[in-house]
Amino acid sequence: MAGRFAPSPTGPLHAGSLATALASWLEARSRGQPWRLRIEDLDPPRESPEAAAMIQRQLQAHGLVWDAISFQSDHSPRYAQALTQLSAMGLAYACGCSRRRLHDDLEAGLTVRLPGGEIRYPGHCRPQAAQPAVASATWGGAGAMTTERPRGSSSRFWSAGGQDDFVLLRADGHWAYHLAVVVDDAAEGIDHIVRGSDLADCLPRHRALQRALGLAEPEVLHVPVVCNGEGEKLSKQTLAPAIADRPSAEARAELGRAWEHLVRSLPEDRVQRWSGPWQALWAGVRS
Ligand code: GLU
Ligand code: ZN
Repeated sequence: MAGRFAPSPTGPLHAGSLATALASWLEARSRGQPWRLRIEDLDPPRESPEAAAMIQRQLQAHGLVWDAISFQSDHSPRYAQALTQLSAMGLAYACGCSRRRLHDDLEAGLTVRLPGGEIRYPGHCRPQAAQPAVASATWGGAGAMTTERPRGSSSRFWSAGGQDDFVLLRADGHWAYHLAVVVDDAAEGIDHIVRGSDLADCLPRHRALQRALGLAEPEVLHVPVVCNGEGEKLSKQTLAPAIADRPSAEARAELGRAWEHLVRSLPEDRVQRWSGPWQALWAGVRS
């Protein structure tokens, strides 16, 4: 069993991603488990070619050294197998709806925006026949469906009885985060997840996929995000500065601030459990 840090290589790490990385490292170490680095490189249009190497240098500069590394771009066969499995259970279906159509639905008041900004899928392409079987406790009996996806369509997962269908495979051929993360956490033996609280809303989707695929459900800790002076979450969009990528006084100071953020924002018993590994890390980075 292991813990992991799973950055998307859309840019360098900032103070917020450092706090998450540190928290996941501390949790794995306090359990005496390996800490894995997983580069979530599934969205080439949003990625920069330099970022994955930069992220690795930044982690090392802060003493956060991983026991294993993997790249999601190498895992397509795993994701395809999971999609085939879901399709065979009648839980995945091809969806040809355009962005435009969903926007029109929104404007016509046929659907709403979810808290994260996504438009709730109104269900145009959801097959009618499988509905009763999906609502029942066992997933079986829905009837096998084709895994063939007509050109230009995405694959959607039929979730929460049709209340929250989400994309598994995008129309442009890229795998969606929800499917990939659930499949990889299982394949890599991840029994506990530490990530930013901006992802807390994803958990019901991940749980639904884990149950449908018969996978273990890892424990999850969501770390409060770090905000800038204006109260905005640090991110590329809010122009958060990159952290150091070389061992330096600056890197030490950043690590110290990341720890202070965790101490301030997490329950005391958790911080207590982390203090051993933290002291070892701090001593190593200090010298
Ligand atoms: N790749 C995601 C991010 O950079 C993290 C995903 C996860 O930890 O589940 O925000
Ligand atoms: Zn559709």
